[in-house]
Amino acid sequence: MTLLELEKLANELNIPVIGVAPWPLPVEASLHLDTPYPCPFTNGTIDERLQGSTTMLAPQSAIVCLFPYYVPWEGNTNVARYCWGDDYHIVVRQYLERLVAVLRERYPNDSFEIHCDTSPLADRYMAYLAGLGFYGWNQTFINPTWGSYTVIGTIMTTLSLEPSAPLSESCLQCGACLRACPGKALQGNHLDYRTCKSYLTQCKGELSEEEEQIIEKTPLIFGCDVCQEVCPHNRNVPMTPIPEFQRVMPYIEAVELEGMTNKEFKAKYGHKAWAWRGKKVLLRNADIVRKERYERK
Ligand code: SF4
Ligand code: SF4
Repeated sequence: MTLLELEKLANELNIPVIGVAPWPLPVEASLHLDTPYPCPFTNGTIDERLQGSTTMLAPQSAIVCLFPYYVPWEGNTNVARYCWGDDYHIVVRQYLERLVAVLRERYPNDSFEIHCDTSPLADRYMAYLAGLGFYGWNQTFINPTWGSYTVIGTIMTTLSLEPSAPLSESCLQCGACLRACPGKALQGNHLDYRTCKSYLTQCKGELSEEEEQIIEKTPLIFGCDVCQEVCPHNRNVPMTPIPEFQRVMPYIEAVELEGMTNKEFKAKYGHKAWAWRGKKVLLRNADIVRKERYERK
């Protein structure tokens, strides 16, 4: 199957961006994953991230897809954009399952295995190898059309496919993300997760005063979009074509969460990516942001 045929198939299933990364990954791959500040939320060691699939014997290629989630919005928001629609773990899997069903029909002797942020697979590096975009100084993965507002889904397969060529572009290196970051977490080519608001809003337990001060700098109570909002690559990004990401809920009412049991919370919001840490963490963050606003008045 050629890349053009694969693209046609994916587009028919409303998957707008697809490419092929080589497998196994090239030896220099570990250089791209090594960082002085490995985030505790990243699954697996570097070796595990490079080996990726543990259940499939001898994969030959990795099919990598991007799922854009940008939706224009003028109103209030207090959660990161990637969480506005339905949980991307569920949505991406559903789309990839439809693609795998077609591929299985055509290639019944081959195996296919879906990954979407649920395994140690080095998916961003694979998306780069598959020619789907480039890295920004803000440490996001940027696609020339959809900006950094995308999530990645991958299919490991025994099917031998011609790998795509990586893009030669880089980000504009304007430095806007470094200047705007509320935690000054972006340092040269690294992200120090310890002062990244996105990380801190997902940490359990008590936070230090310094950590609270970072959270209170912007209204979000889950995640942080600042380094993406200021990035010129995210100007004029089209709205996502994916209906599950168009149904948005950009604002969480903390008052509503306060009155809910954990069971009620899970039943009502279990399909949202921001629900994974539970309501206690969200309420703590809402309190920090609210306190700051109250004291400023
Ligand atoms: S997500 Fe927020 S805190 Fe983290 S690096 Fe980007 S701007 Fe800084
Ligand atoms: S804001 Fe500027 S420096 Fe940061 S990723 Fe975007 S283009 Fe690169």
